[in-house]
Amino acid sequence: MPVVPCTASASRRQVLRLAAGAGFLLLAGGMLRPGPARAATFAAPPLPYAENALEPVISAKTVSFHYGKHTLGYFDNANKLVADTPLAGQPLEKVFLEAAKDPKMVGLFRNAAQAWNHVFYWSGLAAGGGAPTGKLAKAIETSFGGLEACRKALSEAAVTQFASGWAWLVADPAGKLSVVKTGNADNPRQEGLKPLWVIDVWEHAYYLDYQNRRADYVKGVLDKLVNWEFVAKNLG
Ligand code: MN
Repeated sequence: MPVVPCTASASRRQVLRLAAGAGFLLLAGGMLRPGPARAATFAAPPLPYAENALEPVISAKTVSFHYGKHTLGYFDNANKLVADTPLAGQPLEKVFLEAAKDPKMVGLFRNAAQAWNHVFYWSGLAAGGGAPTGKLAKAIETSFGGLEACRKALSEAAVTQFASGWAWLVADPAGKLSVVKTGNADNPRQEGLKPLWVIDVWEHAYYLDYQNRRADYVKGVLDKLVNWEFVAKNLG
């Protein structure tokens, strides 16, 4: 919760400005309470490329719906649900991690985690693909025995995730890489693992282009769209 300075020496105008900027409403008598404020709003970053940049693996139509409707929809819902909770004003990642611990906040958890997961997904894709280098290439070699084994593990996780979910490349606190899959909105950060890359295997991610052929979508993404620079940046 942001701290709003409210001293006897501050003018009413100053207090109002501070209160509004920090996401509070000033009530009669100088009481502050959380308000529907700018500071509490999660802003969806724009797509980092054109809608057709991932073709032919992912069509512009899929990207248009998946970003414009699904991703932005999760942000809208998270913004509505976080207002008037003690988590208002906190960063998105903290909000979903805290909301995950409280069964009464399951709706907020799902939408905030999905908002975060989708930004991570879009950032991890790039036309052209490429290959890991440097520290990342070495970590893949050490952890999987090579890039092909890493891709195979990601592919298996993505194809076998039952129903909606995600397949992730993650690092544990010791820096060892592995692949995990999660259902629905769940995120490896809830288990103390650091996400490095993710593929969305909810049907909305591929059904317009591939219908039930999830394996073809997964193969296309792994062969052609992995943004290895993003993965390396996340490894640190
Ligand atoms: Mn999705």
